Amino acid sequence: MLMCRDLARIASDYIDGELGTMDRVSVKMHLLMCGHCRTFIGNLRASIDLMKAHSSQQVDEELVHRIDSRIKERLDAQRSRKNDSE
Ligand SMILES: [Zn+2]
Repeated sequence: MLMCRDLARIASDYIDGELGTMDRVSVKMHLLMCGHCRTFIGNLRASIDLMKAHSSQQVDEELVHRIDSRIKERLDAQRSRKNDSE
């Protein structure tokens, strides 16, 4: 059975999707039982995302925001059109 310290060692590979199937299953099993490691993985994932966001200097926050709202508008429009036809 995977121990917390084993999980900590392979956590970043898990998040990057670089683990084999068996290891991934072991991690998932452990996460089901261990709240500490769930928190740990959550924090690690958040900080990795943050690091990636900061390392790519070309990300234009406003553009991303605009794309987000464009997608949301599109979804809302689809949804209301669906409601109209019903
Ligand atoms: Zn654990």
